[in-house]
Amino acid sequence: MVLAGIVANEPVDAAKVAKAEKIILGLQARLPAYTAKGAGPFVAAVYDRQGNLVAEAANSVVNGRCSHNHAEMNAIHLAEEKLGTYDLSPYHLHLYVTAEPCVMCMGGIMWSGIEAVYSGVPSKRVEEITGFDEGYKPDWQQAFRERGITVYGNIASEAGEKVLQRYMDEGRTVYKPERSQSIL
Ligand SMILES: [Zn+2]
Repeated sequence: MVLAGIVANEPVDAAKVAKAEKIILGLQARLPAYTAKGAGPFVAAVYDRQGNLVAEAANSVVNGRCSHNHAEMNAIHLAEEKLGTYDLSPYHLHLYVTAEPCVMCMGGIMWSGIEAVYSGVPSKRVEEITGFDEGYKPDWQQAFRERGITVYGNIASEAGEKVLQRYMDEGRTVYKPERSQSIL
């Protein structure tokens, strides 16, 4: 387990990092199977406190033709569908994701009632490796702390970076709004 470089909005708990590392490494290992079917290079999963999987989903922006189909949003949507609710907070659920959430997903996580977020590759590295625009980042970790949402980041990043690099090496789509183009 690697504790160096872990960022968190509470004193770092090694047991939480160990559990999250195991789950995120599993997500990264499954990621190439998702991208081979047209998914974007990010996977997220929702687990309960006891470690039971509730929902897992990859990014489906391109194959789902929807700009907000990020892995976190898809996993939260699946969990809410499965549990039949728009408010996950009574279930004390934790979100694990292979890369740091973007500004949209931070908002989505906040609205969902998710209790804790554990993420892999930091946004800066995602942008350097892939060219995705992760967007504006407010001081979200503090804002989440004020709402009782635990945040841990930079978990198993080395393995996560390799998976992102593989996505690039395979020549897969780096989707973004082509603002300079005009159809009409
Ligand atoms: Zn996102």
